[in-house]
Amino acid sequence: MTRAEIVVDLAAIRRNVATLKAMAGVAMMTVVKADGYGHGMLESARAAREAGADWLGVATLDEALALRATGDTGRMLCWLTVPADDLAPVLAADIDVTAYTVAELDRIAEAAARAGGAPYRVQLKVDTGLSRGGATLAEWPDVVARARAGEQAGTWRITGIWSHFASSEVPDDPANDEQEKVFEEALAIAADGGLEPEVRHLANSAAAILRPSSRYDLVRCGIASYGLDPAPGLHQVELIPAMTVRAELALVKHVEAGAAVSYGRRWTAAEPTTLGLVPIGYAEGVARRASPGAEVLIEGSRRPIRGTICMDQFVVDLGGDTPAPGSEVLLWGPGTRGEPTAEEWAQATGTISYEIVTRLGGRLSRRHIDSQRETER
Ligand SMILES: *Cc1c(COP(=O)(O)O)cnc(C)c1O
Repeated sequence: MTRAEIVVDLAAIRRNVATLKAMAGVAMMTVVKADGYGHGMLESARAAREAGADWLGVATLDEALALRATGDTGRMLCWLTVPADDLAPVLAADIDVTAYTVAELDRIAEAAARAGGAPYRVQLKVDTGLSRGGATLAEWPDVVARARAGEQAGTWRITGIWSHFASSEVPDDPANDEQEKVFEEALAIAADGGLEPEVRHLANSAAAILRPSSRYDLVRCGIASYGLDPAPGLHQVELIPAMTVRAELALVKHVEAGAAVSYGRRWTAAEPTTLGLVPIGYAEGVARRASPGAEVLIEGSRRPIRGTICMDQFVVDLGGDTPAPGSEVLLWGPGTRGEPTAEEWAQATGTISYEIVTRLGGRLSRRHIDSQRETER
């Protein structure tokens, strides 16, 4: 085994995508931005397509172009451009781009003129209360008018109108009702302005699962596709975490009572014990804040992390046990062998599972397996 690696089960991603699509009953966009939430964008995208993902969603133009470069010819949406971005290659690659403003539509028109081959596909995003990207309701009529003018000029078709929730993981937050109401208003303004989008969409994973009223024509599922619960504890749908993080136990040793462990001497052994050294640290994305609190699984037992997590390594309390150096250390996984889940690490770290899986990097390698097909790719 390798010193430390991420193992991703593509069968789990396929299962989750199929489960979510069947549940939602509308078109499925699998969101594969940020390297597939740390699971590998290209492999995750392929698994999602095999399971019936009608669309792929990414943030940046580069992500969309990378997917096209692998031969994916399906529908694809990106939503985060900056003025310096060259939109022409993205339009030419048959990718739906998102506009928030009249200025952005003007830039798309300019790029379309250079690219030739119009009409292209453009979606509009309205800000219904997240106050992040998207046109406010005050700006919306002008955006709709510019969008319609571009349709009449043959530059593009407005294929979608969409928005994004602020608190969908809290299903009874009244802000969700309010955002749906504003979305309805925006759709009505767009219809009055002559736009007939092919897809209207609002729901991310949590909303797709918890708010049927928000599903419209398409749902955009990120985190749930990877098997992590967007609203921990609500357990509305059966998901399988796709990611396992494992390492090889580097060292085991006995220490006496009073031994202080790791930088800052933040934990001291109250009695004689055994300690294990795990060769992965915050350089790999294992948050320093995860200690105290997080645990790992070694030889079937949970072992608490002791003292400060370092750049390259951390120490666990083996409680007198002496597993052989080289034994497998499971940081997190689906939980089927008793190992912690990414959600447990999120709770120990004071964050959400999204951050736990997406922030991994450093010297970790990543391997894709397929528990259904028993192949490695
Ligand atoms: C990341 C993202 C999603 C996916 O959200 P999840 O909560 O992971 O399902 C959907 N829509 C937009 C606009 C996003 O940025």
